[in-house]
Amino acid sequence: MRQPPTCQPRKTPDFPGFSGGSPHVMAGPMRPPQHRGTPRLVRAAATVMSALLVVAALPGDAVAHRTHHRHHARHAHHALNLPVDPRDIAFDHFVTDFRATALAQGISPTVYATAMSGIHRNSQVETLNQEQPEFVRPIWSYLDSATSPLRVAAGQRQAIEQAANLTTLESKFGVPREILLSVWGNETNYGANIGTFNLFEALATLAYDGARTDFAKHELIAALQLVQQEHLDPKDMRSSWAGAFGQLQMLPSTFLKSAVDGDGDGKRDLWHSIPDALASAASELASDGWQKNAGWGYEVRLPPDFPYELADGEMLKPIAEWTQLGVRAADGTALPANAEPGSIYIPAGRRGPGFMTFANFKVVLKYNNAVSYALAVCVLGDLIAGRAGIQGSWPREEQPLSRDERLAFQSALAKLGFDPGKIDGVLGRGVKAALRQYQRAHGMPADGFPTLGLLGLILTEVAQKRL
Ligand code: CA
Repeated sequence: MRQPPTCQPRKTPDFPGFSGGSPHVMAGPMRPPQHRGTPRLVRAAATVMSALLVVAALPGDAVAHRTHHRHHARHAHHALNLPVDPRDIAFDHFVTDFRATALAQGISPTVYATAMSGIHRNSQVETLNQEQPEFVRPIWSYLDSATSPLRVAAGQRQAIEQAANLTTLESKFGVPREILLSVWGNETNYGANIGTFNLFEALATLAYDGARTDFAKHELIAALQLVQQEHLDPKDMRSSWAGAFGQLQMLPSTFLKSAVDGDGDGKRDLWHSIPDALASAASELASDGWQKNAGWGYEVRLPPDFPYELADGEMLKPIAEWTQLGVRAADGTALPANAEPGSIYIPAGRRGPGFMTFANFKVVLKYNNAVSYALAVCVLGDLIAGRAGIQGSWPREEQPLSRDERLAFQSALAKLGFDPGKIDGVLGRGVKAALRQYQRAHGMPADGFPTLGLLGLILTEVAQKRL
């Protein structure tokens, strides 16, 4: 699900998702039924290969360094009779040192002290930040819950309750009501899940160490500016682990840029005021380029001989060209005329449904940079508006690849000379492009959808060539 960013993610770089979390990450033990029909040797080879990779990724120095740290921590523990985690010390240093940076950016000493005192390194945030998911939830499973009948019905109830607000927002910002309702439903289930972390603790934990320090420092300054400008009480600013907050899960920097007072009380309260939150999302989508009276796209049907390498979600072609290539609407009729070029996205390869997407789809991606998220927003919006949902069927028999298998996929493609980018267990755009090249080179339909079956073929070739 995690395509490499096509734009700067607003929420969690490299790990965008649901409520600032990650919609597709399965909890560890949720292993789906075992892989019937996949040769055991293939799976074993994958496991061995990735075990080797893991060892190779831990240079001796790093191991020694860690042991050294543990030794020191134990030593301190014995000497002081207190558990001292060096990470806590590093965190406290960060909070002390970052004050100068914040003050240089105009934050008052009082605001810094109020927001940053009494916070601690949050190990739950660290775990969520570091976690390499064992399994990534398949898109059909994600969409099942993101666009469930319950969520559609709740969205339709909110459409009635918020009708007056939504009418105002449609005319002011040009964003249709069902898209605003759907973003709200997808981000927090219409306000039911707005996050319970202390915003400053979450951002400071992401900022003191780890893979997202630059992102988190930037958002931390924005959060402090928010306290200063809006006179908010930092203790009330609850967020997701990744620092997105309120009914529509905005980041502090997004608040500063786009938040709007929707109910006219003179304050911008994205936590408690639904009109403020919906207006702010409309303002954000409009400033990201939402085109009034243009759709996001629609489901399409591709002919069996379709050159699937064109369906990478990026390649823009006029509708007439797609029509010449045999693309039809989901019901088999001709594609509706549209002056805007579109790109075709096949989230589950050639055996799943395809979608024609236009510029507005990319605007939703800017709100939260995961294509499955954007599709969920657009499809739930259609359903809330009473339009049809997805007609095509998904290849539900395909099992999700484990982390070891995803790593094996990447390293095997690399060994065969197809550049998958960084070998990190994330099957994003780079891996899919490499897989498409592999498929083309082997005369297969180049849909770039990584399956266990393809992994078996690739590993067999690696073994035959003794690579
Ligand atoms: Ca307000």
